[in-house]
Amino acid sequence: MNQDITETIRQVVKKAMVEESFVELEASGRHVHLSREAIDYLFGVGYQLTIAKELSQPGQFACKERITIKGPKGKFENVVILGPERKASQVEVSLTDAVVLGEKVPVRESGHIEGTPGITLIHKDRELKLDEGLIAAKRHIHVSPEDAEKLQVKNHEMVQVKVFGERSLIFDEVVIRISPNYRTFMHIDFDEANACGFKKGMVVKVIKKDCNQPSVDYNQIKQVSQPNQQVENEPEQNKTAAELNKKIITESDLQKIFLQKTYHVLIPENSIITPLAEDYIRKHKLEIQRHKEIKL
Ligand SMILES: [Zn+2]
Repeated sequence: MNQDITETIRQVVKKAMVEESFVELEASGRHVHLSREAIDYLFGVGYQLTIAKELSQPGQFACKERITIKGPKGKFENVVILGPERKASQVEVSLTDAVVLGEKVPVRESGHIEGTPGITLIHKDRELKLDEGLIAAKRHIHVSPEDAEKLQVKNHEMVQVKVFGERSLIFDEVVIRISPNYRTFMHIDFDEANACGFKKGMVVKVIKKDCNQPSVDYNQIKQVSQPNQQVENEPEQNKTAAELNKKIITESDLQKIFLQKTYHVLIPENSIITPLAEDYIRKHKLEIQRHKEIKL
């Protein structure tokens, strides 16, 4: 197929995907970002790294040059260098790699390297000992401002992300990073990729953690009095139960009720409770009662 048409179709599909809160997932292997000083020292003054492959983020590329990274217990050879050069050198590994290297590696956002362990970089006969810069990258989603609006997310917001398939799971604590220089992609490391059965081109669903999102119809929450269930000295909030007339009970439905200090919820007999909602019920010790008379 014509290259332009393929690209146009890709863009249209991606746009529709983002409107439904789906983003594409990518897995990053261990890699190194180098400062000008590090390149000068390891490869020679003024050396220019060779672009081998463009990455999904504009201006970012994998280099042809490879180096060795060495920790107190072990090392990895042939580690890819990602360009362009940065202000400070940074080495990103998985927590499994950290065990091999023999170093305790903190999970950090890229660029936040203060107080992190150092590591030795080796190229041929040159060895450069970094004082800091070894991190396991915090899982994140690069978002363009346009897509941020569609996803209704803010910069640095934490979201959850659902991965589908045989090893389906939900990643919590995924940080949103918005910039006009970004294309919308989620990034995880290889530990996370293996945990969720990652395959190239996989799409995942962004789930907002903010309980104040207008995803619940207030008309569906009805306060019903339950005076008979009140026990002496029981907290005031247990006086009432909320009736939730919905086919699918989501976490956000329950959050709304919980925020109204109601911990007893009546739901239709045949309602489905989502896994996230189940977690919420356990965590907040909500009492859920299925009601035969309320049938949808
Ligand atoms: Zn990234």
